[in-house]
Amino acid sequence: MNYRGRFAPSPTGALHFGSLVAALASWLCARQAGGRWLVRMEDLDPLRAVPGSAASILATLPAFGLVPDVPVLHQAQRTAAYDAAFEALRRSGAVFPCWCSRSELALVGLHRDGRCSARKNPHREPAWRLRAPDVDIAFDDRLQGPQSQNLRTAVGDFVIRRVEGIYSYHLACVVDDAFQSVTEVVRGCDLLDSTPRQIWLQRLLGLPTPAYLHLPLALDARGHKLSKSSQAWPVDPAHPLSTLQRALAFLGQAVPPADDLAEWLAVAAREFDLRRIPQRSGCFAP
Ligand code: GLU
Repeated sequence: MNYRGRFAPSPTGALHFGSLVAALASWLCARQAGGRWLVRMEDLDPLRAVPGSAASILATLPAFGLVPDVPVLHQAQRTAAYDAAFEALRRSGAVFPCWCSRSELALVGLHRDGRCSARKNPHREPAWRLRAPDVDIAFDDRLQGPQSQNLRTAVGDFVIRRVEGIYSYHLACVVDDAFQSVTEVVRGCDLLDSTPRQIWLQRLLGLPTPAYLHLPLALDARGHKLSKSSQAWPVDPAHPLSTLQRALAFLGQAVPPADDLAEWLAVAAREFDLRRIPQRSGCFAP
């Protein structure tokens, strides 16, 4: 198999320790498999993007020796591909328009059975939801083991295109993972319970399902996920080796002594052993 892994940051702040762990782990998996490592900038949502953070993330990764093997893909330039996928879903009747306001949503809770409880409003654009099937979607995570989720009961009909016309992360992610021929998705455990939605979308769109590996999450002292948008401390590109050593230790690996960055990374990739990654800390079962 021609392994292709990826790191897919959102430009919501500078790269912090948690995202460096995901970048390093996906890079190590790709290097160890003799495959390619890709970076995709998930700048799909201009309302969430923090100005300057995409450039800052893309400048920081190479300072840590993590250099993508192909040019970076920017989701902001992929709207035509998402339009085409959305149209295919619309034509097949898999999605329906939803005019629910926030307060109506709070009342109905989960949307189910492809019905919107709000009245059609000709003056307002609808959001579009995908009908959640009453089916258990199962997959075998390479680190977390067998997973299963019933989309109808656990998630309900989920938004695929927002009122503002912005496509959901799920739609863009599956379209781009297929477009980039990604064979394995390595990312944080906070996305473990998103995976069944993505697998269902892949089935509807006739796209391949890659392998999945969900990493333990780096948490702050209060037990919250480190996140760019909550302004976790950015990693310091001036001292890459000491931070990489901490990231590798977080992944449960033996940490080679630090000297030369490229050499250190080569040793880390050679000795990387998936079975040593702590499995569940910070993970929530679907
Ligand atoms: N863009 C997402 C994030 O920064 C990650 C998406 C993914 O790896 O599928 O959390």
